[in-house]
Order: sequence, then structure tokens, then C-alpha cells
Amino acid sequence: MIEARELVKQFGPQRVLDGIDLKVEEGEIVVLLGPSGSGKSTLLRCLNGLETPTSGTVEVAGVIVDAGLKPRDREARFRSIRQRTGMVFQQFNLYPHKTALGNVTEALRVVRGLAAAEADRIGERLLARVGLSDKRDAYPSRLSGGQQQRVAIARALATEPAVLLFDEPTSALDPELVGEVLAVMRELAREGMTMVVVTHEMKFAREAASRVVFLDGGRIVEEAAPEAFFASPRHERAQRFIRQLQ
Ligand code: ADP
Ligand code: MG
Repeated sequence: MIEARELVKQFGPQRVLDGIDLKVEEGEIVVLLGPSGSGKSTLLRCLNGLETPTSGTVEVAGVIVDAGLKPRDREARFRSIRQRTGMVFQQFNLYPHKTALGNVTEALRVVRGLAAAEADRIGERLLARVGLSDKRDAYPSRLSGGQQQRVAIARALATEPAVLLFDEPTSALDPELVGEVLAVMRELAREGMTMVVVTHEMKFAREAASRVVFLDGGRIVEEAAPEAFFASPRHERAQRFIRQLQ
């Protein structure tokens, strides 16, 4: 479902991704771990073209983008990848002047061109799926952080993505609100959604991940099943990372 081959991203002289090879099969939950600045966000953003890779190849849901393509062709393919992926950010990035339902249906109306009634019907179903049917008319400022993030997940699901990318979806939340967002993510995992998740929630990583991928300095230095990774990380940097959690 996702494949990165020899993916490199440079910001000026700085090589932030230094030859990433990553494969994610349909239905897998891959948790990306690594110290701050190791390139986790940049990797997610290169997968859907929010950042332009410097070299290498990205393939998502059957769409292949080689960094060497002409900019116009590359952008067209990334647009097509973005239509097949949903992304959830640390900051929920909801439209403040739209209701919960309005946020969820925006892409259905604007991108898909659905009539309002049809978009609302789908939007209501998605809000129900994240447990927020009663908040359909609420504006983001009247929702808790956990509720806002659940709206953001419903919004990401609206265009029926083949893949969901999460970048620290619970890092901005008060601790007591983390669980409700993780519960929605666990449910999506159970339903077979393909997900790549950057998170510091190690319990989620242990229990929900099919695989843990550990980045350091823009390289994948370790890749393992969560049980093996947490019980006995092989790489020194990963060992230190896990010790710091305890
Ligand atoms: P992580 O998500 O693992 O904390 P990032 O992918 O955000 O790491 O960042 C990796 C490195 O790339 C950091 O050194 C960061 O400063 C740098 N970086 C990220 N985005 C940009 C950018 N737009 N311009 C320049 N440097 C960037
Ligand atoms: Mg990051």
C-alpha cells in the first residue's frame, strides 16, 4: 500500500531523510518512533507530497512518484496520492468558522462536488463513527481538544482514504483526553485501515502496531514487531530511547 525507495530529503545542505526504504502492506499499522528531529514528520509529509522529496521514489495506493519527474507531473501524482490519503496532525487544524459537520463535509462538497444533503448524510455517519453525533452543529471553539481531534479524524476519513497518516495526534491533548482519540484509532486499526502513526504513546505502539520503525538521523536504524522492539531493541540509539521512556 505504501512504499518508499531510497527516499532522500534535503533542506539546503541538511540531509533530513537519508535514504529511506519502507514498505507498508495493506491493513498494517506502522508506528514511527525516533528522537525529536530524526525526520518522522518529514517522512510522513514526503509520502503525500506536503514536502517534495529530493530524490528517490514514493508509491502510495498504486500511484508512483519519482522525485526526478517534471514538477508538473510530480505535483499531479502527489495530488492524486493526497486524494487517497488522510492526514491527522498534532494541531487539529479545523476550520474555526465551520461546524463539526461542516469541517467533515468540506472536502466532499468542494473536492468531490457532492450536493449538500448527500455530503451531510456521509458526514453524519462519520461523526457517529467517532462518537460525536451530538456535536454536529458545534464550532471547534466549543469542543474539547479530544473532540476536535476526533472531528479531524472524521474529516480525514471523508474521502475514503486508502491510507491514514498520523503525526503525533495526541501530543497536544491534556492527558485525560488522549484515551478517546486512541480508542478511535484502535477501532480504525481493527477495521483494517492502513495507518502510519508517529506517536509517543508507547502503550498504543505496543498493543496496536503491526510493526515499529525507529528513525535516527534520517535513517531507519531498526524495524521490528513491537514485542521484540520493546523487549530488546538491538540498536544503541533505540535502547537509549526506550530507557528514557521509563
Ligand atoms: P521529527 O518529526 O522526527 O521531530 P522533523 O521531520 O520535523 O523531525 O525534522 C527533521 C529535521 O528537519 C530537523 O532538523 C528539522 O529542523 C528539519 N526541518 C524540518 N522541516 C524543515 C523545513 N521546512 N526547513 C528546514 N528544515 C526543516
Ligand atoms: Mg515531528
